[in-house]
Amino acid sequence: LFKGLEALKDLPCETNDGYRLPLWVNTGLMADVVRSLERGAEGVGLYRTEVPFLMRDRFPSEEEQRSIYREQLAAFAPLPVTIRTLDIGGDKALPYFPIEEDNPFLGWRGIRVTLDHPEIFLAQVRAMIKASEGLDNLRILLPMITNIPEMEASKALITRVYKELVEEGYKVKMPPVGAMIEVPAAVYQARELAALSEFLSVGSNDLTQYLLAVDRNNARVADLYQAFHPAVLRALQHIVTEAHAEGISVSICGELAGDPGAAILLMAMGFDMLSMSATNLPKVKSVIRGISSTLAKDLLAEVMAMGNADQIRERVEQALNDAD
Ligand code: PEP
Ligand code: MG
Repeated sequence: LFKGLEALKDLPCETNDGYRLPLWVNTGLMADVVRSLERGAEGVGLYRTEVPFLMRDRFPSEEEQRSIYREQLAAFAPLPVTIRTLDIGGDKALPYFPIEEDNPFLGWRGIRVTLDHPEIFLAQVRAMIKASEGLDNLRILLPMITNIPEMEASKALITRVYKELVEEGYKVKMPPVGAMIEVPAAVYQARELAALSEFLSVGSNDLTQYLLAVDRNNARVADLYQAFHPAVLRALQHIVTEAHAEGISVSICGELAGDPGAAILLMAMGFDMLSMSATNLPKVKSVIRGISSTLAKDLLAEVMAMGNADQIRERVEQALNDAD
């Protein structure tokens, strides 16, 4: 198996009729970085900064953050690294910053927390931009964006940090900034958010839970958490159409991107890259290399006309078996 992976590493992720689909990775720990590079990742679509924050007993200082982010950026340079601002709340609590709520997934999480605490946001963005000096491969991703003012406020803070750093003499570039699309409201404002972004990234884990009203971590309703639900697929297709209409790229960084069957559909929808855990990358690459983009498009058209998530999943699995 290892030999197989090694061989796959240097082969492009492209269909057998020549359609290229870059595979990126989701990271959190330095260990993910090493594994990702070994597997031929073409960039980082989501670096979850909660991970280093969770491993401490207090907020890391700006300088600590700069050094952690620098390690990630340097390991992948010149490949792009998408660093997400702190996404706490929901199911992710920092022991030193407790948030007590009845409905944490509908509460104070992601960008809501950091816009209410600009000192956290500003320190983090300063650390990211400083860390990118001389590498210029940073992209900043904003979690849980639900309305336009959140996007405008975040961008204003990022621009302020950038200008301050230039004034302080740092040789830095203004990084591309992107909104995560993971709340249904953002799906219906994808066009407006795209106009304010350099890229979009879909968080299908949260988007699925919010579209279907199913807690992503509740075993009792796990059967209802259907990634292939027609409503989810339609939302995904809509986001791609809107991002492209605005002339920007769109990726997906939820678990769905690492599911080989889903990857075929996502490619056919037009996602510009898929970002997944390094564990899933070789499997997805080998599936994409084994099919044609025409077949993927036909499969997508077929399942988009189906009304039942289980039937869609079965049809996709059948297509995977046929391709084997
Ligand atoms: C998502 O919601 O799909 C996502 C990638 O973010 P997280 O899983 O960290 O919430
Ligand atoms: Mg999310």
